[in-house]
Amino acid sequence: MIPASFEYERADSSDHALELLDRHGEEAKLLAGGHSLLPMMRLRLATPAVLIDVGRLTDLSYVRDDGDAIAIGALTCHEDIKDSDVLKQHCGIVAHTAGEVGDPQVRHLGTIGGSIAHGDPASDLPTVMLALDAQFVVRSSGGGRTLAASNFFSGLFETALEPTNLLTEVRVPKLSGGWSYQKFHHRAQDWAIVGVAAVQHNGGAAVALTNMSDVPMRAAGVEQALASGSDAATAATEAAQNTSPPSDPFGSAEYRRDLAKVLTRRALQEAMSS
Ligand SMILES: Cc1cc2nc3c(=O)[nH]c(=O)nc-3n(C[C@H](O)[C@H](O)[C@H](O)COP(=O)(O)OP(=O)(O)OC[C@H]3O[C@@H](n4cnc5c(N)ncnc54)[C@H](O)[C@@H]3O)c2cc1C
Repeated sequence: MIPASFEYERADSSDHALELLDRHGEEAKLLAGGHSLLPMMRLRLATPAVLIDVGRLTDLSYVRDDGDAIAIGALTCHEDIKDSDVLKQHCGIVAHTAGEVGDPQVRHLGTIGGSIAHGDPASDLPTVMLALDAQFVVRSSGGGRTLAASNFFSGLFETALEPTNLLTEVRVPKLSGGWSYQKFHHRAQDWAIVGVAAVQHNGGAAVALTNMSDVPMRAAGVEQALASGSDAATAATEAAQNTSPPSDPFGSAEYRRDLAKVLTRRALQEAMSS
């Protein structure tokens, strides 16, 4: 389908993007790689009156070693994240998972900021961010704030971002232990039917689920079982606790609940063996 008509503005700096957001308010949407927003506009599920193109803000495309954390610019494309030596060395799950997103065309245009801001529970990187307790740096014309991933995803395609906010940076910890992202999909370039991220960090384990609810979610039952001394296989049986997965032609909710347990066991075993 053809999108509803809209005006187009190109931001030439972050300050300019914020100025345009203030000017157009709720009528506007930021355009990064366009690989989630444009399909929604074609289906008329999104009908912004103004698109503010931030895709050329190259100063927001970087991966940097920043002490205890790795700082990733929001406009960094999935392909650059996949290839980042800094991430491969210190937080390999992010580089690995970026390589699992779509196909090369999607990865060269889609950005980590767009993936997080879009709030799609079937996306891969938001789940990993949740497992990592990542921090999101957000700017508005009034100043900046940092949001925890745990407080960011509020509903289906809904996040804590306000209409005049620009996500500028994603901060992930340097991992001290093993990790795994298990993605189950029909074809290599497809979205996850279910995904599971597991990380070991600072002596504890975190597990998060893709496409098992309206939002990416932590598998609290699994984490509690591990903290109480259960082994990976036993803890994984708690993976479907409090989930509400969709039913669609790729799998029923019941199938997804079973799959989450299997993938969680595999993710934990891989994370604990590396
Ligand atoms: C064929 C296909 C296959 C795909 N497969 C997968 C997959 O397997 N796994 C997966 O996780 N994803 C997949 N995707 C989605 C892809 O990763 C998207 O690129 C990504 O989710 C959104 O990034 P974007 O830069 O394209 O964002 P856009 O589409 O430009 O924007 C998405 C939303 O985020 C907002 N936004 C963008 N940047 C910012 C910012 N810096 N600050 C505030 N708001 C912002 C926009 O206003 C919009 O609402 C696929 C997409 C396609 C088309």
